[in-house]
Amino acid sequence: MKVIVSHDVDHLSTSEHLLKDFYILKSLVRNTAYLVTNRINLSEYLQRLREFATNKLNYIEELSNFNKANGVNATFFFATANGLSLSYKKSQIKNWIEYLLNSDYFSVGIHGISFNDFSLMKKEKDDFEEITGIHNFGIRMHYLRGDNRTLEMLSRLDYLFDSTFYSIKQPYQIGNMWVFPLTMMDVYQISGKKKYTNNEIKKLIINQLEEVENANLSHISINFHDRYFSTGHRNYYRWYKYLIEILKSRGHSFVNYNEAIADLNRKNEENRKHNQ
Ligand SMILES: [Zn+2]
Repeated sequence: MKVIVSHDVDHLSTSEHLLKDFYILKSLVRNTAYLVTNRINLSEYLQRLREFATNKLNYIEELSNFNKANGVNATFFFATANGLSLSYKKSQIKNWIEYLLNSDYFSVGIHGISFNDFSLMKKEKDDFEEITGIHNFGIRMHYLRGDNRTLEMLSRLDYLFDSTFYSIKQPYQIGNMWVFPLTMMDVYQISGKKKYTNNEIKKLIINQLEEVENANLSHISINFHDRYFSTGHRNYYRWYKYLIEILKSRGHSFVNYNEAIADLNRKNEENRKHNQ
């Protein structure tokens, strides 16, 4: 089982939200409620306030450093449209994408907003190509949104791959597009509103991994939001660090989507020859 790690970038800074959405206000109310009901620590609460005050809502750099030190050649998904509390401007992503691609280690893809309107979906893709200068990339929908036509439309838009829909399933193709079911995502695997010990988190991960390993898949896809690579979100932060440590200790290695696709295409070709 090869592991593909990816990161949805939903937020870059505090300022992008001001006058545009209620993300900051809602978060402040929710964080305070979690603090007074003892679901998060005071240190977590203060770190979240500090992030808002210092205009820093992304951990792309810190997470890339951690990934590189652990052999994780991850893919980061950035949006070129806005919706559901994703409010950064497309002009803001250029520098981050350059930073990641200049590493010659990480890849980027698009975090899709529209999922049922072909022309809006095409616009997001065209904008991404214009900003990045790259033409062969994949997509994951923000909030994993989609309907029964989404994948077919993405395939018609010539996406290299999609990794939106959650399930423990082998990658497959729709037309030329590869579909990588999303196997594990931080907010689906662990709660952000209760306290866990380190051992509880490790046990949770091992149980989750055993279920995945039993499915005997060639590749699995994991999503961790860079925003949570922060001591302000201790559960998710520890979940990711332990997950990488445990995956390595169980002998799993990391590949990116492109490497996985090359593997899968090779296998398809072998099967085709075999069946001739
Ligand atoms: Zn998202």
